Amino acid sequence: MLHAFRSLVSPELSIVQILPQADKVVLVARPKATKSCCPSCGCRTGRVHSHYMRRVADLPWQGRVVEIRLHARRFRCADPQCRQRIFTERLPETVQPRARRTARLGESHLAIGFAVGGESGSRLSRKLAMPVSGDTLLRMIRAAGFEPPAAPRVVGIDDWAWRKGQRYGTIICDLERNRVLDLLPDRNANTVASWLKRHPGIEVIARDRAGVYADGARRGAPDATQVADRWHLLQNLGEALRLALGRHRKAVSAAGKAMMAKMSGDDDANPEPSVETSPKLDGLRRSRRNQRSELYAEVLDLRTTGMSPRQIAPRTGMSVRTIERWLAAGGEPEHRRPPARSVLMDPFQEYLEERWQEGQRNGLHLWSEIKPHLNSHFWKIL
Ligand SMILES: [Zn+2]
Repeated sequence: MLHAFRSLVSPELSIVQILPQADKVVLVARPKATKSCCPSCGCRTGRVHSHYMRRVADLPWQGRVVEIRLHARRFRCADPQCRQRIFTERLPETVQPRARRTARLGESHLAIGFAVGGESGSRLSRKLAMPVSGDTLLRMIRAAGFEPPAAPRVVGIDDWAWRKGQRYGTIICDLERNRVLDLLPDRNANTVASWLKRHPGIEVIARDRAGVYADGARRGAPDATQVADRWHLLQNLGEALRLALGRHRKAVSAAGKAMMAKMSGDDDANPEPSVETSPKLDGLRRSRRNQRSELYAEVLDLRTTGMSPRQIAPRTGMSVRTIERWLAAGGEPEHRRPPARSVLMDPFQEYLEERWQEGQRNGLHLWSEIKPHLNSHFWKIL
């Protein structure tokens, strides 16, 4: 019976004595563990620095206040490099550092505070043999509203311009809470890797196709799954479709018209979809294409002299990223009309967002889900 009661108090504590007093029950307790982990570096050590007595209020027993007298310890960190020389033992299951009530008593107080408020909560708590002041309850309620952010699980990593075209850093976002977590000074794989190491628990890393982030993520969070992020996923998907369709533009267009004629039961096919073509517009497109070709030729020239994309950028007025992309692709991108992408992807954007929120983060899987619906959609836009 006593044994059962003792183990109920906390898995981290041994009860060495129970002292029933007139108005309360005092439990004298010692931590069970012989070693403790340094909160700074995480290394385990058994080198006790000193002992002290800590009084912690706990849940009541038989209508009586319970107080734990805890033989608390300070440890020396075993790592001479660690900035934390001495630390107090952590008992996460039982009580927060410096707290004067156990975690479970704190939960009860908070529930009371939320239910009936500060002063009434204080009166009720006294009746229930877990006294607490109204001010403390209010403080707990306020603190609960601003609870520290949970460790991120799904993060997005992308580059970010400190000064456009000149200096780039890295932005890291919590994709589940839509919150910026950090801005890193550069786009270095080492910087990303060390940031990830400082933030364990990340399961999914969404990034673009840049090799730097892939490498940084692999080293910093080897267990995390790397995925193409939502934006890049849509972009890649749109690009792939456009390329695939582009090769068969004529055939697809003809098939589409025939289908529409059939569906409308009309021998006269619906009026041809308007395609913006005018000599003037064509001329503009051509000249922009030429400009891009010239620009690419210049980039290549500079590259052959041994310059890095970062050095080429200020000389061409292009972003480092674009230069890297062009070089990787082996040429300047074909000019595209911007609406094509949104028209193509719009109907799926909402669905994909939804699936993402539901937890489906596998690009191939998402692709297989929307694929069967693509055809019918194409006929409508062609
Ligand atoms: Zn340490």
